[in-house]
Amino acid sequence: MAVPHCFKSGWGFVMSDETVYYFDNNATTRVAPEVVEALLPFYTEQWGNPSSTYRFGNRVGEAVARSREQVATLLNCDEREVVFTSCGTESNNAAWNSALLSRPGKRHLVTTAVEHSANIKFGQTLEKRGVEVTWLPVDSLGELDVHLLHESIREDTALVSVMYANNETGVVFPLEEIAAICRGKGVLFHTDAVQTPGKLPLDVRALGVDYLSLSAHKLHAPKGVGVLYTRKGAPWQPYVMGGGQEHGRRGGTENVAGIVAFGQAAEMAAEGLVRDVPLIRTLRDRMEDDILKNIPGVTRNGAKDPRLPNTSNLSFERCEAEAILLLLDREGICASSGSACTTGSLAPSHVLIAMGQSPEKAIGAVRLSLSKYTTDAEVDWLTGKLPPIIEKLRGASPRPAAAEVRRA
Ligand code: PLP
Repeated sequence: MAVPHCFKSGWGFVMSDETVYYFDNNATTRVAPEVVEALLPFYTEQWGNPSSTYRFGNRVGEAVARSREQVATLLNCDEREVVFTSCGTESNNAAWNSALLSRPGKRHLVTTAVEHSANIKFGQTLEKRGVEVTWLPVDSLGELDVHLLHESIREDTALVSVMYANNETGVVFPLEEIAAICRGKGVLFHTDAVQTPGKLPLDVRALGVDYLSLSAHKLHAPKGVGVLYTRKGAPWQPYVMGGGQEHGRRGGTENVAGIVAFGQAAEMAAEGLVRDVPLIRTLRDRMEDDILKNIPGVTRNGAKDPRLPNTSNLSFERCEAEAILLLLDREGICASSGSACTTGSLAPSHVLIAMGQSPEKAIGAVRLSLSKYTTDAEVDWLTGKLPPIIEKLRGASPRPAAAEVRRA
């Protein structure tokens, strides 16, 4: 079936009469054509309810079961350990909720100051309800002090939750080491791995986690479907309650098309790890080296390695990211200033502030994130357009603000 509206040329995504140069893959990703093909029949032909007893529903239930197997293969787990949710945010909230509710005497959580807002906001809400949260700091490279994490675990700690890779800087945390500490102390361990499928190995047995969150729209599948891996034997309390779906672990009629898409995308992510990652990393490094070499006053935020192969976070001195993004947008280039959820506000990124950066430097930070669909020609377009944009902004005023650019 033809996929309308958006196709990929050698240069970028062509949408109606406009070419889009997409460097915001940590915000969301293009739905892969193979994924669209896999999901469409579940809107057009096989639209039954997977819980129904008749065959028209059973066949849909079988498709959900197949997707569960595909995700389990990606994670190297049993399919009964895969719970489908509505998004990465819900998966994170559900894991924290489960750990706290199933261990009512334990009212302490350990997490990091650089988590996605899904965890930061939930943690702040829990604090208002009397749960104590230890927010672990990071150093100037965005890295964790694992010894401090070890010291922070207490008798009453219900859960340690540390993201696998940071969505803004791409910095990767040492999950296996952290998991070993948690096991040693008898504490449950959750990781937000939303940014990692197709970029980092995702073997939950090797990682040693109890809970792991994923979100379909970060791996070339649609928005509105997530996964929470829940180790067999790890406590479970439903966060969304209703029907007995997901073996009683998550109520609500399944987003069948989304789940089928997730399965297909999971299979492709596993293949892409070997095939696509070296190419994405080479392209990202070429882009980053070019910008650092050709534009003065630019610094990389976060450790060079270990880092997601697709992510580059750069601060441009004497510029506001919002202004840079506006001018990039006029050239058809999509990028962001840190987490998309906070874009639109001029507040500096909580991740960069936690890394000890000044608000001035943090406000000049732009995140560029690539995917397997990013081409050499797109990188050339970006690296060609960026130097005059920065020069123009720096020439306009000591610190051109987005408002000035909008007026210009
Ligand atoms: N966790 C991380 C690290 C993310 O990057 C995101 C989305 O940006 C989320 C969680 C939230 O996922 P979702 O958009 O599916 O709720």
